[in-house]
Amino acid sequence: MKSILIVDDKTENLYLLQALLQGKGYRVQTAANGEEALAAARAEAPDLVITDILMPVMDGFTLCREWRQDASLAPIPFVFYTATYTEKHDEEFALGLGADLFLVKPMEPDAMIAEIERILARGPSSRRTPAAGAAQSDEAYLRQYNEVLVHKLEDKVADMERANAELRALDMMKNTLLMNVTHELRTPLLVVKGYAELIGSGRSGPITETISHQCVAMRNNVDRLLHTISNLIFLADPASAEKTRSVETLDLGEVLEIAIECVRMKAGEKGVEVRREGEPITLKGDRNELLTAVFNLLDNAVKFTPGGGIVTVSTGREAGTARVVVADTGIGIAAEEQQRIFENFYQVDSSTTRRSGGLGLGLGIVRTIAERHGGRIELASATGKGSTFTLILSAG
Ligand code: ADP
Repeated sequence: MKSILIVDDKTENLYLLQALLQGKGYRVQTAANGEEALAAARAEAPDLVITDILMPVMDGFTLCREWRQDASLAPIPFVFYTATYTEKHDEEFALGLGADLFLVKPMEPDAMIAEIERILARGPSSRRTPAAGAAQSDEAYLRQYNEVLVHKLEDKVADMERANAELRALDMMKNTLLMNVTHELRTPLLVVKGYAELIGSGRSGPITETISHQCVAMRNNVDRLLHTISNLIFLADPASAEKTRSVETLDLGEVLEIAIECVRMKAGEKGVEVRREGEPITLKGDRNELLTAVFNLLDNAVKFTPGGGIVTVSTGREAGTARVVVADTGIGIAAEEQQRIFENFYQVDSSTTRRSGGLGLGLGIVRTIAERHGGRIELASATGKGSTFTLILSAG
């Protein structure tokens, strides 16, 4: 049984060619680049080698040159099989290096097998690379080699730019879709929330205490969904979030009060006390963004603090910055997790059985918002002792 060595850095190409050749009764060895191919062939010489051109570590041209200069490998027929931006001078260059055949993809399987059989039937190859060491030929080789490779790389860069443009277009489509879907979800949810509040307030007719509680539960859950949707919108389209920013001089205390109001019910149900401390602060910022940031921090603080615990929100000024500190007496965050929790979708406990909910987006958004306000977010925490997040904002 004849054996063939195939060389390609793309596993799917190797796989296809391997399947075709094995189907025709050949034994097949594979290698991912020229260097691996040389090692494999020196360990067990094949009857023929088929190689791609552009590969990392050692490309097909260099492999061909080395192959032809190795006395034990030189008689083995050498075939290029490539589609990467093939031009006439690539073929000339390859044949000049001593290749027996230059095949261009894609090829009909039968035609390809016929070519391979033809080369194998010819017996040992008599083709050789010009002798190594001959200064003239070395120099000519290097010049041509550079030209051919640079040309190929230019084509490859152009190809990658095209692929990049396509990806950007797809990314925009994805964002538009996400924005539309989330807006479509938000509108009906606001209606549901409005009705839950109306019924719960007793303004649309007398209600029992049980119904009042059920309305509160409905409102809380709708709020949670709305909060998740806001985070998704922010993540999906930061550029449009940037465009709709409205920076004004605002009272930070007011923003904190709204955020506290949003978590008060959930904290009350859990038996977590929420305290407010510190001095009044006015600064320039985007009200919605700051509300989202403080809400995300507070929501986490309540979420990760067991009943009986305390969450303290305080404000202060330091070294020309305004600070919002959200401290809790909750479960804390291990030192090795403290960087990672700011990554999108990262959660310390991501098991589906965890009860705290969330998507792992909140802190990444807090960080982005802090940066948009000329600041940053800092964390001090120890497992079992609680966490303190400090939102540092430019006071200007
Ligand atoms: P989410 O809260 O939706 O999971 P976040 O990005 O807001 O996403 O937080 C990421 C992770 O960081 C959380 O899942 C949790 O593991 C951890 N974390 C955040 N805040 C706290 C906190 N106050 N106490 C303990 N762990 C926290």
